[in-house]
Amino acid sequence: MDKTFEHLVERLAVRHGVTAQHIRQRAERRQARLHGLLSRDAAARSVGLSLALASAEQRLSGFLAAGSRHVNGLSVADAIAAAQAEGGQQHLSTIGYWPQPREAAASVAARYREAISAVAVAGLRSSVSVKVDQMGYDRELLREVAALARQHGVRLHFDAQGLETVDRTHAMMEESLAAGTDVSATLPSRWLRSASDARRFRALGIPVRIVKGQGGDPDAPKIDPRQSYLALVEVFAGSTCEVGVATHDRRVAEPALRRLRASSTPCVLEQLRSLPRLDAVADALGVPVRAYVAFGRFGLPYAIGEVFRRPAILGWILRDALVRHRPTSTTAPRIGDGR
Ligand SMILES: Cc1cc2nc3c(=O)[nH]c(=O)nc-3n(C[C@H](O)[C@H](O)[C@H](O)COP(=O)(O)OP(=O)(O)OC[C@H]3O[C@@H](n4cnc5c(N)ncnc54)[C@H](O)[C@@H]3O)c2cc1C
Repeated sequence: MDKTFEHLVERLAVRHGVTAQHIRQRAERRQARLHGLLSRDAAARSVGLSLALASAEQRLSGFLAAGSRHVNGLSVADAIAAAQAEGGQQHLSTIGYWPQPREAAASVAARYREAISAVAVAGLRSSVSVKVDQMGYDRELLREVAALARQHGVRLHFDAQGLETVDRTHAMMEESLAAGTDVSATLPSRWLRSASDARRFRALGIPVRIVKGQGGDPDAPKIDPRQSYLALVEVFAGSTCEVGVATHDRRVAEPALRRLRASSTPCVLEQLRSLPRLDAVADALGVPVRAYVAFGRFGLPYAIGEVFRRPAILGWILRDALVRHRPTSTTAPRIGDGR
């Protein structure tokens, strides 16, 4: 055993609060990707750097401008104002709450309920996105959120988080579906398992949002997210499931929407409000647009740790660090304001 390497791995594990196994596996994958060009020590150090960058994202977003352009404001009222602005352009919307670091599950659930009530009060054609891992996979909390969504006829969308969260997320989503809630799910094309998840959702008639995914799949590090994206689209072609094509990559969005239109599959183009948008592609094809409107903590819609795979992220970080937060509106009615 190489004692220097093991010592380095142990030190990095302690520093970043992960297991030594985690560092070892990621370092090995990196070495394999670079065909051994990186020494074991250098690979482990680069994993340490990725972990440091990821935790810097958390800290940065608390007090710098970083990520502020990716949320529409801190409160649900800001999100509602943004969704209303989208509605003015005949766009649908999805409201998503980005929680504070270590925010209590009950508080996250309360924000989701607040968003559902606000959508109902405003009479918006908007769904509400939930992240069940951030509700601590608490079934009771989800039941309360889902009951309110049912009461107001608001669709509950289940965002995709890490690969390790998927089984529990899908189980909880299907429970909500069985209780009569209108649900939809995210399918990341970077994950190998998404192909079988897609077939299951098609059989259950669950509407989907197809994304490339922020996190990769250790079992499929070489997957081509564009090709697998279009393969997922193919699963739904000709079905009655609504497909949300959620990408800012024209080379994916255009063929995906064309295929869905040609097979008379109900579809929408889904866009993050903060990124360069492809609305014109949807307009040209006569496809509706759904905007994802986030509120809450500042966050970044990409994984900083991916910077080694995708150097363009460095430029995005720089831009996000310089662009200051501009809430959509501070005058939109708040729930309980009586306005
Ligand atoms: C509506 C919506 C919902 C999503 N929901 C989820 C989810 O539930 N779970 C999940 O894991 N991921 C989600 N994502 C994120 C998604 O997985 C991708 O990480 C993200 O969309 C970037 O991939 P892309 O397909 O747009 O293609 P990319 O190739 O990454 O981006 C296409 C182009 O968009 C521009 N661009 C992309 N990102 C940035 C940026 N940060 N700053 C500046 N320009 C940029 C660039 O010009 C780039 O070439 C969602 C994305 C969208 C649009």
